Amino acid sequence: MGLMTGKKCLILGVANKRSIAWGIAQSLHREGAELAFSYVNDRLKENVVDLAQTLEGYENMPMLPCDVSAEGEIERMYEALGQTWDKLDVLVHSIAYARTEDLHQNFIDIGREGWRIAQEVSAWSLIACARGARPFMNASGGGSIMTLSYLAAERVVDKYNIMAPAKAALECNVRYLAHELGGENIRVNAISAGPIKTLASSAVKGVSLLRNIVEERSPLRRNVTIEEVGDVGLFLASPLSRCITGETIYADNGFSVMGV
Ligand code: NAD
Repeated sequence: MGLMTGKKCLILGVANKRSIAWGIAQSLHREGAELAFSYVNDRLKENVVDLAQTLEGYENMPMLPCDVSAEGEIERMYEALGQTWDKLDVLVHSIAYARTEDLHQNFIDIGREGWRIAQEVSAWSLIACARGARPFMNASGGGSIMTLSYLAAERVVDKYNIMAPAKAALECNVRYLAHELGGENIRVNAISAGPIKTLASSAVKGVSLLRNIVEERSPLRRNVTIEEVGDVGLFLASPLSRCITGETIYADNGFSVMGV
């Protein structure tokens, strides 16, 4: 019997085998969780299905389309989930997006539409996804919701630009959702992960440089892997973290504690 045996977990944000969401999915699966996945479009569906097929029990895993920027799609995802699952214990929200041109321009030039898109997909979507998860988690007597953030929410990280205020809003959303859902035994937390080479991070200029700096200066003198972040996700999903909510937990080999 694993830590997550009998627990149902919905994973949003697998794009390929490098995705942090895939690291978390593997950790949850290792401990006996039942998984459901969403995919953003048909092009990425194939990747998600191929990865899920490597896991035992694939035949029973709901695979659900969900582009969080499309009107009504989050609600439709939960409707579809409800056809096979009547409860949910864990929601993994591992989604972010900003247009490349908005990431690459100077912070002072951020425009209205770029701001709206980055905030909607990367921060507001957590609120909407938590709203959809709520009745399913109520049916389970509670649950754990987690999202992925980054140090730039709190400190200036050169070139992170428009995504920084989106992450700041996301971490704030975590605290307000934790407050509002705590009475229903639903916990909400963020993992602030160190830089990892993924599809999303490749849009941010200078990720390799950031990784070199982390390797040189973090207390543990190395970069984090999706497997390590996956295990932090497992901890937040499991009863081991039952007294933790509203937090942003750093999974960054200690980099965030460093000053000079
Ligand atoms: P990734 O590209 O593998 O995952 C990003 C996911 O967001 C993809 O699956 C993509 O399909 C999804 N997505 C984008 N727009 C969407 C939309 N409109 N609707 C639904 N899904 C959408 O990259 P990742 O690095 O694993 O990113 C996952 C999360 O981790 C993001 O929130 C990212 O900001 C965060 N994060 C990443 C790093 C890093 O260095 N890679 C560090 C800290 C936090």
